[in-house]
Amino acid sequence: MYLKALEIQGFKAFPDKTVLQFGEDITAVVGPNGSGKSNISDAIRWVMGEQSAKALRGSKMEDVIFSGTAQRAPVGFAQVTLVLDNTEHIFPSMEESEVAVTRRYYRSGESEYYINRQSVRLKDVTELFLDTGLGKEGYSIIGQGKIDEILSAKSGERREIFEEAAGISKFRHRKEESERK
Ligand code: ATP
Ligand code: MG
Repeated sequence: MYLKALEIQGFKAFPDKTVLQFGEDITAVVGPNGSGKSNISDAIRWVMGEQSAKALRGSKMEDVIFSGTAQRAPVGFAQVTLVLDNTEHIFPSMEESEVAVTRRYYRSGESEYYINRQSVRLKDVTELFLDTGLGKEGYSIIGQGKIDEILSAKSGERREIFEEAAGISKFRHRKEESERK
Protein backbone atom coordinates (compact mmCIF):
# COMPACT_ATOMS: atom_id res chain seq x y z
CA MET A 1 0.00 0.00 0.00
CA TYR A 2 1.25 3.47 -0.75
CA LEU A 3 0.06 6.98 -1.47
CA LYS A 4 -0.04 7.45 -5.23
CA ALA A 5 -0.97 11.09 -5.50
CA LEU A 6 -2.25 14.12 -3.66
CA GLU A 7 -4.26 16.80 -5.48
CA ILE A 8 -4.56 20.10 -3.66
CA GLN A 9 -6.66 23.06 -4.77
CA GLY A 10 -7.52 26.16 -2.79
CA PHE A 11 -6.07 24.58 0.36
CA LYS A 12 -3.85 26.82 2.52
CA ALA A 13 -0.96 28.15 0.40
CA PHE A 14 -2.05 26.26 -2.78
CA PRO A 15 -4.58 28.41 -4.70
CA ASP A 16 -4.04 26.56 -7.98
CA LYS A 17 -4.60 22.87 -8.52
CA THR A 18 -1.34 21.16 -7.57
CA VAL A 19 -0.76 17.45 -8.16
CA LEU A 20 1.96 15.64 -6.22
CA GLN A 21 2.82 12.17 -7.53
CA PHE A 22 4.47 9.77 -5.09
CA GLY A 23 6.41 6.63 -5.93
CA GLU A 24 6.47 3.39 -3.97
CA ASP A 25 9.70 4.42 -2.30
CA ILE A 26 10.42 7.17 0.17
CA THR A 27 9.44 10.74 -0.69
CA ALA A 28 11.08 13.70 1.04
CA VAL A 29 9.69 17.21 0.78
CA VAL A 30 12.25 19.98 1.02
CA GLY A 31 11.90 23.75 0.81
CA PRO A 32 12.52 27.01 2.65
CA ASN A 33 10.67 27.91 5.84
CA GLY A 34 7.08 28.89 5.15
CA SER A 35 7.05 27.37 1.65
CA GLY A 36 4.22 24.95 2.45
CA LYS A 37 5.83 21.62 3.46
CA SER A 38 3.70 21.18 6.57
CA ASN A 39 0.64 22.30 4.61
CA ILE A 40 1.06 19.09 2.58
CA SER A 41 0.80 16.87 5.66
CA ASP A 42 -2.11 19.04 6.86
CA ALA A 43 -3.83 18.33 3.52
CA ILE A 44 -3.37 14.57 4.03
CA ARG A 45 -4.74 14.74 7.58
CA TRP A 46 -7.64 16.91 6.44
CA VAL A 47 -8.76 14.69 3.55
CA MET A 48 -8.75 11.70 5.91
CA GLY A 49 -11.39 13.47 7.99
CA GLU A 50 -9.62 15.67 10.54
CA GLN A 51 -12.28 17.84 12.21
CA SER A 52 -10.05 19.81 14.55
CA ALA A 53 -8.95 23.20 13.15
CA LYS A 54 -6.28 23.30 15.84
CA ALA A 55 -4.78 20.00 14.67
CA LEU A 56 -4.52 21.67 11.26
CA ARG A 57 -2.72 24.64 12.85
CA GLY A 58 -5.67 27.00 12.41
CA SER A 59 -8.30 28.49 14.67
CA LYS A 60 -11.39 27.70 12.56
CA MET A 61 -12.01 25.31 9.68
CA GLU A 62 -12.25 28.21 7.20
CA ASP A 63 -8.51 28.77 7.77
CA VAL A 64 -7.76 25.84 5.45
CA ILE A 65 -9.14 27.82 2.48
CA PHE A 66 -6.59 29.93 0.58
CA SER A 67 -7.06 33.38 2.09
CA GLY A 68 -5.34 35.41 -0.62
CA THR A 69 -2.10 37.33 -0.91
CA ALA A 70 -1.19 40.81 -2.18
CA GLN A 71 -1.25 39.34 -5.70
CA ARG A 72 -4.06 36.79 -5.45
CA ALA A 73 -7.68 37.05 -4.40
CA PRO A 74 -8.98 34.50 -1.85
CA VAL A 75 -10.76 31.43 -3.22
CA GLY A 76 -14.19 30.13 -2.28
CA PHE A 77 -13.41 26.53 -1.42
CA ALA A 78 -10.64 24.10 -0.60
CA GLN A 79 -10.43 20.66 -2.15
CA VAL A 80 -8.01 17.81 -1.55
CA THR A 81 -7.96 14.37 -3.18
CA LEU A 82 -5.76 11.56 -1.89
CA VAL A 83 -5.19 8.64 -4.25
CA LEU A 84 -4.16 5.37 -2.60
CA ASP A 85 -2.99 2.12 -4.08
CA ASN A 86 -5.42 -0.73 -3.36
CA THR A 87 -3.90 -3.56 -5.40
CA GLU A 88 -3.32 -5.49 -2.16
CA HIS A 89 -6.84 -4.70 -0.95
CA ILE A 90 -5.85 -2.84 2.14
CA PHE A 91 -9.39 -1.44 1.86
CA PRO A 92 -11.31 -4.75 1.91
CA SER A 93 -14.62 -3.00 1.15
CA MET A 94 -13.25 -1.62 -2.12
CA GLU A 95 -12.73 -3.74 -5.22
CA GLU A 96 -10.96 -1.08 -7.26
CA SER A 97 -7.16 -1.12 -7.50
CA GLU A 98 -7.12 2.57 -6.65
CA VAL A 99 -9.05 4.46 -4.01
CA ALA A 100 -9.48 8.24 -4.28
CA VAL A 101 -10.82 10.13 -1.29
CA THR A 102 -11.91 13.75 -1.78
CA ARG A 103 -12.95 16.42 0.67
CA ARG A 104 -14.28 19.84 -0.33
CA TYR A 105 -15.09 22.68 2.02
CA TYR A 106 -16.81 25.98 1.19
CA ARG A 107 -16.64 29.26 3.08
CA SER A 108 -20.34 28.81 3.81
CA GLY A 109 -19.30 25.90 6.06
CA GLU A 110 -20.62 23.22 3.72
CA SER A 111 -18.55 20.02 3.45
CA GLU A 112 -18.52 17.35 0.78
CA TYR A 113 -16.80 13.97 0.83
CA TYR A 114 -16.29 11.54 -2.05
CA ILE A 115 -14.86 8.04 -2.36
CA ASN A 116 -13.94 7.23 -5.96
CA ARG A 117 -16.01 10.23 -7.07
CA GLN A 118 -19.16 9.01 -5.34
CA SER A 119 -20.63 11.35 -2.78
CA VAL A 120 -20.39 9.86 0.73
CA ARG A 121 -20.69 10.90 4.38
CA LEU A 122 -17.79 11.74 6.68
CA LYS A 123 -18.67 8.54 8.54
CA ASP A 124 -17.91 6.52 5.39
CA VAL A 125 -14.47 8.12 5.06
CA THR A 126 -13.72 7.47 8.74
CA GLU A 127 -14.83 3.84 8.41
CA LEU A 128 -12.84 3.35 5.22
CA PHE A 129 -9.60 4.20 7.04
CA LEU A 130 -10.34 2.39 10.33
CA ASP A 131 -7.96 -0.52 10.93
CA THR A 132 -5.87 0.23 7.89
CA GLY A 133 -3.29 1.99 10.06
CA LEU A 134 -4.10 5.14 8.09
CA GLY A 135 -6.72 7.67 9.02
CA LYS A 136 -6.57 10.64 11.29
CA GLU A 137 -6.47 8.44 14.41
CA GLY A 138 -4.00 6.05 12.85
CA TYR A 139 -0.28 6.07 13.41
CA SER A 140 0.61 6.83 9.80
CA ILE A 141 1.16 10.53 10.41
CA ILE A 142 3.49 11.13 13.30
CA GLY A 143 3.41 14.78 14.21
CA GLN A 144 5.83 16.59 16.46
CA GLY A 145 5.29 15.53 20.07
CA LYS A 146 3.39 12.35 19.15
CA ILE A 147 6.15 9.98 20.27
CA ASP A 148 6.18 11.65 23.71
CA GLU A 149 2.39 11.42 23.82
CA ILE A 150 2.48 7.66 23.18
CA LEU A 151 5.17 7.10 25.80
CA SER A 152 3.35 9.11 28.45
CA ALA A 153 -0.18 7.98 27.48
CA LYS A 154 -2.56 6.59 30.06
CA SER A 155 -3.26 2.87 29.71
CA GLY A 156 -6.67 3.46 28.06
CA GLU A 157 -5.20 5.74 25.43
CA ARG A 158 -2.33 3.36 24.78
CA ARG A 159 -4.83 0.55 24.42
CA GLU A 160 -6.56 2.51 21.64
CA ILE A 161 -3.28 2.74 19.76
CA PHE A 162 -2.81 -1.05 20.02
CA GLU A 163 -6.44 -1.66 19.03
CA GLU A 164 -5.88 0.36 15.87
CA ALA A 165 -2.65 -1.56 15.15
CA ALA A 166 -4.40 -4.90 15.76
CA GLY A 167 -7.21 -3.93 13.40
CA ILE A 168 -10.02 -4.16 15.93
CA SER A 169 -10.89 -0.50 16.52
CA LYS A 170 -13.62 -0.74 13.85
CA PHE A 171 -15.61 -2.95 16.22
CA ARG A 172 -15.25 -0.58 19.15
CA HIS A 173 -16.23 2.34 16.90
CA ARG A 174 -19.37 0.51 15.69
CA LYS A 175 -20.29 -0.55 19.23
CA GLU A 176 -20.04 3.07 20.43
CA GLU A 177 -22.12 4.21 17.45
CA SER A 178 -24.89 1.72 18.19
CA GLU A 179 -24.89 2.56 21.91
CA ARG A 180 -25.40 6.23 21.02
CA LYS A 181 -28.57 5.46 19.04
P1 ATP B 1 8.78 25.38 8.08
O1 ATP B 1 10.03 24.96 7.36
O2 ATP B 1 8.97 26.66 8.82
O3 ATP B 1 8.16 24.29 8.90
P2 ATP B 1 6.76 24.92 6.01
O4 ATP B 1 7.37 24.70 4.65
O5 ATP B 1 6.32 23.73 6.75
O6 ATP B 1 7.75 25.80 6.89
P3 ATP B 1 4.02 25.71 6.11
O7 ATP B 1 3.76 25.85 7.57
O8 ATP B 1 3.53 24.48 5.44
O9 ATP B 1 5.57 25.93 5.82
O10 ATP B 1 3.42 26.95 5.32
C1 ATP B 1 3.12 28.14 5.92
C2 ATP B 1 2.67 29.11 4.84
O11 ATP B 1 1.36 28.79 4.42
C3 ATP B 1 2.66 30.52 5.40
O12 ATP B 1 3.32 31.35 4.48
C4 ATP B 1 1.19 30.85 5.46
O13 ATP B 1 0.94 32.19 5.17
C5 ATP B 1 0.61 29.97 4.35
N1 ATP B 1 -0.80 29.70 4.60
C6 ATP B 1 -1.36 28.95 5.59
N2 ATP B 1 -2.70 28.97 5.52
C7 ATP B 1 -3.00 29.75 4.45
C8 ATP B 1 -4.23 30.19 3.87
N3 ATP B 1 -5.43 29.81 4.35
N4 ATP B 1 -4.16 31.02 2.80
C9 ATP B 1 -2.97 31.41 2.30
N5 ATP B 1 -1.78 31.04 2.80
C10 ATP B 1 -1.79 30.24 3.87
MG1 MG C 1 6.73 22.97 8.68
